[in-house]
Amino acid sequence: MSAALQLQDVALTYTTRAGNISALAEVSLDVAEGEFVAILGPSGCGKSTLLKLTAGLLHPTHGRIMVGAGTVTRPGRETGVVFQKPNFLPWKTVLANVLMPAKTLGLVDGSARKRAREMLAMVGLGEFADNYPFELSGGMQQRVGIARMLLHDPQLLLMDEPFAALDALTREMLMLELQRIWEQQRKSVLFITHSIQEAVFLADRVLVMSPRPGKIVASLTIPLPRPRTLETLGQGEFMVLCQHLRGYFAHA
Ligand code: ADP
Repeated sequence: MSAALQLQDVALTYTTRAGNISALAEVSLDVAEGEFVAILGPSGCGKSTLLKLTAGLLHPTHGRIMVGAGTVTRPGRETGVVFQKPNFLPWKTVLANVLMPAKTLGLVDGSARKRAREMLAMVGLGEFADNYPFELSGGMQQRVGIARMLLHDPQLLLMDEPFAALDALTREMLMLELQRIWEQQRKSVLFITHSIQEAVFLADRVLVMSPRPGKIVASLTIPLPRPRTLETLGQGEFMVLCQHLRGYFAHA
């Protein structure tokens, strides 16, 4: 399989008035075509920084980031991004919010509208296209964010703790939903989380990050069969994998 994403010896140091902050050091990783990779790390270890670099929103101090065959220098059409908070324009409808990036991405108006409606239907929100974001629950809003991420049919999905602000039951529903969408669309995914369960449930492979400056300190293949279900969460093999990962964060 060819790589959908490659990071080669990437480092990022923020320059602040109070001094330099080394957020990431020597990060090398790759995501294969169609692979679902989760990055698991403690708060402040540089996960969001890593995602912003991959999305072309920041530039590495050192190293190289490749999406497909091209080096990332700015946000591109090959990637779709979802953040922890969806940043909607509250005065625009759900449909208009999904269409927000269409102009920047140079999408044709009519076909973008059609695609936006299709993506809303796929995340189960076809009937809410003309509602406003505040009329939707937190979980529904994140599903709108997923529809918006898929609008331009990107090959690589970058997700930064998309379910972190949601309650436990909604998170579980959205994990199932995301798995379904991923199986249907077969995109490559880099999914950032600080939830061990979420990482093990969703990913083909989990990469563990060290505290800041973040480095990849372990890679664990998740051999659990798919589709994974809510029963998976209670199975022995699932729990053994979670426990193994927990070992990286248990400090005396
Ligand atoms: P995480 O997503 O794992 O919680 P972040 O990538 O947000 O971590 O942050 C990693 C480190 O970089 C933190 O110590 C944070 O304070 C620092 N940092 C993040 N963004 C900036 C910024 N814009 N300017 C300066 N320091 C930053």
